[in-house]
Amino acid sequence: MKKWIYSYHEGNGKDKQLLGGKGANLCEITQIGLNVPPGFVITTDACLSYLNDPERQLPDGVMAQVHDQMGMLEHATSKRFGDANDPLLVSVRSGSAMSMPGMMDTILNLGLNAQTLVGLIAHTGNERFGYDSYRRFIQLFGKVALGVPDELFDEQFEAVKKKAGVAVDIALQASDLQEISERFLAVVQHHTGKPFPADPYEQLEIAIKAVFNSWMGKRAVDYRREFNITTEMANGTAVNIVTMVFGNMGTDSATGVGFTRNPGTGENVLYGEYLVNAQGEDVVAGIRTPKPLQDMAEEMPVLFPQLMDLRNRLETHYHEVQDFEFTIEKGVLYCLQTRNGKMNASAMVRTSVEMAREGLITEQEALLRINPQHLEQMLYPRLDPKFKGTAIATGLPASPGAASGQAVFDADRAETLGKQGIKVILIREETKPEDIHGFFAAQGILTSRGGKTSHAAVVARGMGKPCVAGAEGIHVDVQLRKAFAGNAIIKEGDVLTLDGTSGNIYLGAVPTVETGFSTELTTLLEWADKAARLKVMANADTPHDAARALQYGAQGIGLCRTERMFNASERLPIVIDMIVADTTEQRQAALDRLLPIQRADFRDVLKIMSPRPVTVRLLDPPIHEFLPNEQQLLNELEQLHHLRLSMQGMEVLVETVKLLAGSHGEALPATVHELGDTRMVDSVISRKEQILQKVRTLHEVNPMLGHRGVRLGITFPEIYTMQIRAVLEAAAECTKEGVPVFPEIMVPQVCTVEELKYVKRLVETVHQQVEADFGVKVHYEFGSMMEVVRACMRAESLAEEAQFFSFGTNDLTQASFSFSREDAENKFLPMYNDCGILQDNPFEVLDVKGVGKLMGLAVGWGRSARPGIKVGICGEHGGHPASIRFCDEIGLDYVSCSAPRVPIARLAAAHARLLLDQGQSVIGK
Ligand code: PEP
Ligand code: MG
Repeated sequence: MKKWIYSYHEGNGKDKQLLGGKGANLCEITQIGLNVPPGFVITTDACLSYLNDPERQLPDGVMAQVHDQMGMLEHATSKRFGDANDPLLVSVRSGSAMSMPGMMDTILNLGLNAQTLVGLIAHTGNERFGYDSYRRFIQLFGKVALGVPDELFDEQFEAVKKKAGVAVDIALQASDLQEISERFLAVVQHHTGKPFPADPYEQLEIAIKAVFNSWMGKRAVDYRREFNITTEMANGTAVNIVTMVFGNMGTDSATGVGFTRNPGTGENVLYGEYLVNAQGEDVVAGIRTPKPLQDMAEEMPVLFPQLMDLRNRLETHYHEVQDFEFTIEKGVLYCLQTRNGKMNASAMVRTSVEMAREGLITEQEALLRINPQHLEQMLYPRLDPKFKGTAIATGLPASPGAASGQAVFDADRAETLGKQGIKVILIREETKPEDIHGFFAAQGILTSRGGKTSHAAVVARGMGKPCVAGAEGIHVDVQLRKAFAGNAIIKEGDVLTLDGTSGNIYLGAVPTVETGFSTELTTLLEWADKAARLKVMANADTPHDAARALQYGAQGIGLCRTERMFNASERLPIVIDMIVADTTEQRQAALDRLLPIQRADFRDVLKIMSPRPVTVRLLDPPIHEFLPNEQQLLNELEQLHHLRLSMQGMEVLVETVKLLAGSHGEALPATVHELGDTRMVDSVISRKEQILQKVRTLHEVNPMLGHRGVRLGITFPEIYTMQIRAVLEAAAECTKEGVPVFPEIMVPQVCTVEELKYVKRLVETVHQQVEADFGVKVHYEFGSMMEVVRACMRAESLAEEAQFFSFGTNDLTQASFSFSREDAENKFLPMYNDCGILQDNPFEVLDVKGVGKLMGLAVGWGRSARPGIKVGICGEHGGHPASIRFCDEIGLDYVSCSAPRVPIARLAAAHARLLLDQGQSVIGK
């Protein structure tokens, strides 16, 4: 008979696929001697067999093995399941290989019925506790296993509270709770048409099936899709059946959740919350606001050191920050679950560096435990420190960062507005797992109830979204779609700002600033640079971008798109002059004006980056991009012609006024004469007409495959010559000043070596002139973009002329797929992804199998002609972690990406090496 079940004493704590994360960890900590309530785990295999069975029957043997295991629990606890004197009660919890907080269902106090309840009350001598446990069980079981809506229970609960005249749950008497239990039983009977199941084993079987079913529930499916949890990562849920221990047995009992370190900041202090005389879900659901764990030192002085000991043992065993749940039942501390703590990026970075320094983990482990993509959070904006506004309310700073958006009061609305691109803040009294789609859509989350470990806080932290929780000064009225904070009223659609770092809430949009690098991040990234083989460069086009890239640790500039330098408002008119010029002389005159401007830019960029390399790409886009579009010009011309007519009218008016004034001997003010002067309008009209004419001439049906890049440089060599001169003269100036600079001139859109040779001749001519003019040796390198398929196929020949290659994977992806990079992402790509024709968006994630294969071949061919030729990537994929791993494996020398992605790329480059050293390859996957 197949083994479907493992007790916590026998399960393999490393086998999360089979036992789920929770089950495996409970096995592990049971086996290292922590005090875990006796329990066992039903495997994910059982779940999959169950879900695959059209009849939805538990596989043969499961219930028999459950009976055996229950026998062992009875033995360990000296209680009996279903016993009318001293009943054993259990919890039934889900747990898959990947942690999916709150996504699946848990049932507590299972085993209660009219008889066992009597035993529970008699044995504990606590009638209130008995009924409280009973009503909780009926509601949870009713909701999770029998599908009874929560609201039906809530209505009855509130009705009894009202009848009893109490405001808080804790003030309810045993008799009230008894009445609630009876009403709940009636709710179940009414809703399901059957009595509430009384047989404990029947309860257990229904509960196990319900947990298995929850794996395919909408919440769990949505969660897996959002977080890209594949079946290789987690397939099915295990079910944990654990002896109940009670934190609500009086003032010597408590329940809480802890993090071995602060998950918001990473600080090495025990962090968490607890509630005396309460059950676990009270803490997590935020029904009562719990106290910080530190208070326990005074309130439970004997137990607090035990809790600290538990914390230390968890960390030293797992070498990882743990997020754990505990219960104290009548002075005995139990650990109910542990898992790796989810933290925001800055806490991950700080704990990585500190744990490595404490000797708990190695530097490599410190690097590998952080997902490079998560570093993005650290570059999230925070409130401008100069902002001095007054908060309308303050809550708990539950997840750092600042965000503004329109207030919305339910998750569906958040989703609808979010899809329209509107920024929203989701406001709730408290959140529940079913609100998850609202989290995805919102910029930030605000709740009026619950602590820092409430659902809202935990989920927001995991997503790196700002969250203010438990803002009790705010009264949220979901029906009215309003929130009241003192005198302030927030209506749906009002803009507000959350500061998840301080817990403050402001009306209106508050300015934000980017966060700086922490010292820990600097250290971590230094370790990353040591571990990595790939260099990380930045795509930076202006001196300002270059300075930022340097701050982020770029080792040079891998792509300076010179055309971006043309866009400043004072430069564009000169560029337009250059474009509309009819003769080479006219064009040269405009270029002569551009030269000093470009030279100054290059000089600044080269100096800022000195002594690092700066790759300057010669003009690439089709030049019509610098001109207004035809329709805009037509509209403007129409308006100008109207204006001209009106001005002619003015002319008549002025003449008449002059005549009249003259007859009275009065002099007119000068401005009146100008009113009728149409010369300026005439000249504007003629300029616009000239531009319109040019726009029409330059029109191309397919400009991305048209007159751009090197083709432009060859048809208008004076443009490239000016740019080449600007780069080399800037380098000469720096060299004269003693600043070591390393410019690299890169040619875009190359498809044949003849193009490269042509441009190379221009470069060599200008280089000789510049060296002669400036009297210094100017160092430079000359290379080719690899963004045309033919260029890749001809890499061997190109390498004879080029000293370096840089893959422009934006264009190369476009060219390889024949997908327009302008349109595909808005048209058919999302559908391709949804229906699985393509796994990813190839403009975001490098298509390793196609585009990547081409790159690999080109690298090989290039190096066969010029061994050791430097090769990099400067398309968007250069900042994408998985793509970076691939680039490392095919032997690229560097990746280049936008400045804010540089830290991500540095860490990803380290991961690439470390994972490859561990034998993990992305090639062939
Ligand atoms: C590319 O094509 O990948 C590239 C870097 O150039 P651009 O995006 O400017 O076309
Ligand atoms: Mg390109």
